Amino acid sequence: MDTLAQMIRVRLRSGALPGAFDFVQRWYGRGSGRECIACQRPIPAFATEVEGHLGDGRVVYFHGLCYRTWDVERERDIEHERDI
Ligand SMILES: [Zn+2]
Repeated sequence: MDTLAQMIRVRLRSGALPGAFDFVQRWYGRGSGRECIACQRPIPAFATEVEGHLGDGRVVYFHGLCYRTWDVERERDIEHERDI
């Protein structure tokens, strides 16, 4: 497991990152310097940015890589819970 996955897993477990987002819309674009919700670092223009619009009007941003890692880790967590 790499450190990004580890960090995202810790943040999932602590509740800092939710296990699911109910996106009403999701966009992929170029980084805009906004803070990634997963790693809390700015998303530079050369990186892919994932912009997720939630049902309650909130908007969250991820690095493309952080988004994919979050997606994998939260599903791994759900599978883990089911095994118990
Ligand atoms: Zn990130």
